[in-house]
Amino acid sequence: MTDFPRSLIEFQRRFPDERACAAYLANARWPDGFRCPACGHGKGWELATKAFTWECAGCGKQTSVTAGTVMHGSKLELTVWFWAAYLMATHSNGMSARQFWRQLGLGSYKSAWLLCAKLRRAMVAPDRSPLKGLVEVDETAIRYRTNDDPPAGGRGRSHDGKMLVAGAVEIVGNAPGRVRLTAIADGSAETLHAFIRADIAKGATVKTDGWSGYPGAPDVSHAPHVVRNMAAHIVLPWAHRLFANLKRWALGVYHGLRRKHLQSYLDEFVFRFNRRKTRHAAFRSLLGIGVTIKHSTYKMLIAPDATA
Ligand SMILES: [Zn+2]
Repeated sequence: MTDFPRSLIEFQRRFPDERACAAYLANARWPDGFRCPACGHGKGWELATKAFTWECAGCGKQTSVTAGTVMHGSKLELTVWFWAAYLMATHSNGMSARQFWRQLGLGSYKSAWLLCAKLRRAMVAPDRSPLKGLVEVDETAIRYRTNDDPPAGGRGRSHDGKMLVAGAVEIVGNAPGRVRLTAIADGSAETLHAFIRADIAKGATVKTDGWSGYPGAPDVSHAPHVVRNMAAHIVLPWAHRLFANLKRWALGVYHGLRRKHLQSYLDEFVFRFNRRKTRHAAFRSLLGIGVTIKHSTYKMLIAPDATA
């Protein structure tokens, strides 16, 4: 679908009410017209008495257009869900629960928080096909914050009060492709090799700063660049930029990250970064509308249990 709204005005025109949202969901579910998930019959009608629900003309089974999506069974209006997912997918820094609460005029902070948490669930398992080709790999330390701790960080070399994060950036041509970020317990060879094994394809070339933890990583060739007097941002410019963006984002949106939720923050950052050019796919993923990206075309996937 190429008609994804590019501005708030366009979005408002496209999805002005519940009907428009439901029609979008029906089209996502049945791009070639209604088909009964139970009996495969191709004829049915939308019920006037039951919102967002279609009934099969063959077997009489009723199917909700929200079945299998994050919206199913929710008391919130579809327009609220659509707005929330749109803002989260297109706002380059993302939105906090507090911002949702104010901007969407939700009744309570708690319902804003729940809405946010439900949308974020889609970010937890970003597409997991490993990075390939030339990949920059590095690690960084991020200071974490506790309740009574100001977010400003100390400058020492020690990692006390800091969380370690391993990062990888795929280099496509002369630009960054996809990225990965993982919270790690230490910078040992064992830990870094596990990160490489999980996130980088066999046969890839891994470019590092030459730290002793990287050589000998399994199934990848290693291109160490030993840093002596050369700054890391010259050897690994994209990894360095990724970490800088991550830290700025963490301070700007969350006023510092908390240790307990570190991996879910990292997942959110990666989700948004990897979909920065496919906002429509991000929007649909957040709402739980099954979609995968294949060579920049969209293919609908309807889960077998996606019936009401
Ligand atoms: Zn049927």
